Amino acid sequence: MPIHEKTLIDAERLKTQEHLVVDGVDVSGHWNTMITPRTLKDYDTGFEKLIQKFGGGENVHRCWQCGSCTNSCTMYAQNTNFNPRYWIYLTRLGLKDELLKDKDIIWQCVSCNRCTHICPRDVKPEGVMKALAHWLEEEGHTEKTASTKFDEIFWEQISERGRIEESSVMQSFFERTNQELKQDWLVEMVKRLIRHLPLGHLIRSAKHTVIKPKTKKWGRTGDVLKQYVREQKEAMHG
Ligand code: SF4
Ligand code: SF4
Repeated sequence: MPIHEKTLIDAERLKTQEHLVVDGVDVSGHWNTMITPRTLKDYDTGFEKLIQKFGGGENVHRCWQCGSCTNSCTMYAQNTNFNPRYWIYLTRLGLKDELLKDKDIIWQCVSCNRCTHICPRDVKPEGVMKALAHWLEEEGHTEKTASTKFDEIFWEQISERGRIEESSVMQSFFERTNQELKQDWLVEMVKRLIRHLPLGHLIRSAKHTVIKPKTKKWGRTGDVLKQYVREQKEAMHG
């Protein structure tokens, strides 16, 4: 059983008498702190295996709870509630409800990979943080991030047409992330492109924003790709 930080125990389970003398010894205040026991029944025995199927979570089973990842973590230095070691522990036990209590900070991992370099068991805690963040998104516990929305648009265009149109990707991205299409930097970039790109290229780009071109004979390939992705998702959750 790993040692748990006091901050990880629900406040209502910590009982402390302000004034207490036992056999003549003054144990007032934190000296007499007791933790009320609890019985957990909400283990999901398949949860560790599920997280292993997300990119980055493959080695979560190797953790031996040394705590080096948390000690070296950039985010832990800012906020002691950010605790990769603890979340890996919960993942291994399948305590999803406990993980959900921290759903609003797990995604804050900055991918500095200090944990990955220091981990003696090659767990790749940074990858586990990403896997957990993806799981939270997929289950609808957290909002989709901008990068997930971008990936979705990219995939939709590739699977449908076998190619992407940059302008159409950007337009969809701005729409789905509730951003104005008219951004100063974008206006400036378009002005420069107009100045420097050959006329034929500009006409072709403008045409492609209206008539979406498709890679030749893409239909069958696109169907196979979509089928493959569907199967992978089913296998993940099956
Ligand atoms: S450093 Fe590695 S082995 Fe140690 S607690 Fe973190 S993930 Fe587990
Ligand atoms: S990669 Fe994430 S979890 Fe690892 S040390 Fe950096 S912030 Fe912490």
